[in-house]
Amino acid sequence: MKSFEDVADFHGHVCPGLALGYRVSMFALKELGERALDEELVAIVENNSCAVDAVQVITGCTFGKGNLIFKDYGKQVYTFIKRPSRNRVTTKGYGIRISVEWKSPEETDEEKKMWDRYMKGDLSEEVLKAVHNRRSKKIEMILNARDEELLKVTTGKIDLPEEARIYPSLRCAICGEKVMEPRARVKDGRIVCIPCFEGNKE
Ligand SMILES: [Zn+2]
Ligand SMILES: [Zn+2]
Repeated sequence: MKSFEDVADFHGHVCPGLALGYRVSMFALKELGERALDEELVAIVENNSCAVDAVQVITGCTFGKGNLIFKDYGKQVYTFIKRPSRNRVTTKGYGIRISVEWKSPEETDEEKKMWDRYMKGDLSEEVLKAVHNRRSKKIEMILNARDEELLKVTTGKIDLPEEARIYPSLRCAICGEKVMEPRARVKDGRIVCIPCFEGNKE
């Protein structure tokens, strides 16, 4: 089992978003239990914030493997579904949908003042220390909160996203680079890649 330190190591820094992603992922693994070997976990994330790095490290659902799906909804919502690999015709799997409900605590007047100064470019030791302390306090709270304080959870059968397939590649008539078939476009009767299709260069 990976730890929060592993997550921080991968992400490069420690921040409240990462802590939230860590709590979401730990909860998902706890609820969905030890994964069977013939099951694959699929994650659908509805934002591309720091939290998603924690999801990748903790759950093993990664962008490169294709079992991390990004929906650009700008929502703090994470869905995890078990996909049985022996039965590829299934369109639904048992899953869990987690919405992050955590509200960061009201700032004190002092914290507000320091944040304003920080936003105006004040990088004095006093300001930096205050901003750092506020962030650490938030991270600490997230890591120690009870699940019910952080997450709103629903479970059940959830539609599985379509599996990543392997496509043949074609060669772009403009830049000469390879592009997978479903992403190729036709421009003036020639097969081109998306950047060349959208660009003006000829
Ligand atoms: Zn971060
Ligand atoms: Zn091209």
